Amino acid sequence: MGMSRRVIIIGAGPGGLATALLLAKAGADVTILEKQPRVGGRTSVIESDGYRFDLGPTFFLYPQILQEIFQEVGRDLFKEVRMTRLDPQYRLTFGAGGELNATSDLERMVTEIARLSPADGPQFRKFMAYNRVKLEKFAPCLQVPFPGWTSLLSARLLAVLPFLKPWKSLHAELAGFFRDPRLQLAFDVVKRVIDVRKAENKAAAEARTKAEQKQKILGILARKQDEALESKSEEELRALIEAM
Ligand SMILES: Cc1cc2nc3c(=O)[nH]c(=O)nc-3n(C[C@H](O)[C@H](O)[C@H](O)COP(=O)(O)OP(=O)(O)OC[C@H]3O[C@@H](n4cnc5c(N)ncnc54)[C@H](O)[C@@H]3O)c2cc1C
Repeated sequence: MGMSRRVIIIGAGPGGLATALLLAKAGADVTILEKQPRVGGRTSVIESDGYRFDLGPTFFLYPQILQEIFQEVGRDLFKEVRMTRLDPQYRLTFGAGGELNATSDLERMVTEIARLSPADGPQFRKFMAYNRVKLEKFAPCLQVPFPGWTSLLSARLLAVLPFLKPWKSLHAELAGFFRDPRLQLAFDVVKRVIDVRKAENKAAAEARTKAEQKQKILGILARKQDEALESKSEEELRALIEAM
């Protein structure tokens, strides 16, 4: 491919930035267009009154991927970007009583779990060993594109199904490892956070649509162009807006 070509990338999220790095390294003349005043897309932050709000991810779990891209262009992620290891990564406080400080230190995590449920402490080692195999088997599938539904039938993916067990719910799998329902909940929590975020996003989108509809009606009123609305009493108009 003639890499003296000019390339325009729309969006400076992680996808656009990574693509730009790789194409520029390959010799393309790259321009990125970003509609926001900042780069980073959903991984950026907004600041207000001295507070920083994450727009998307709150912690970074898999730096290897970025390191691969940085290395590809002759840089070292860990020199370019200051990483702070969170330890504990988060603290769960259970309604049924007790706390769990999640740490990436295996032995401390076993102790944390045993504090809640002594029988479940050693089970965590089995759980980790089991998931390590699962990740090793599945990682090659995560590194190839899935352009269409037929990609789900690839021999590579079918070969890992016995390890992924898509027929089994996460809850059933966790119940096979941990007796204490608090621990089953603890390892299900990321999925729950994603479910809640999906629900929150839907609620936010609905609220935004409502606000936009109200604004439209108010705009019509302000311009006094709609005869039908103009002829309505203030009370009728309020009722109309509330119903939107
Ligand atoms: C709440 C939340 C939590 C998440 N947690 C994780 C996590 O833990 N781990 C993880 O790996 N991923 C996580 N993600 C997903 C991750 O943020 C996205 O996968 C990633 O940001 C996608 O990158 P992208 O470049 O494809 O898109 P985006 O990050 O969405 O970037 C797209 C960019 O394009 C710009 N743009 C769009 N249209 C135009 C236009 N017409 N002209 C100019 N610019 C335009 C946008 O402003 C934006 O900057 C999370 C996402 C959310 C929302």
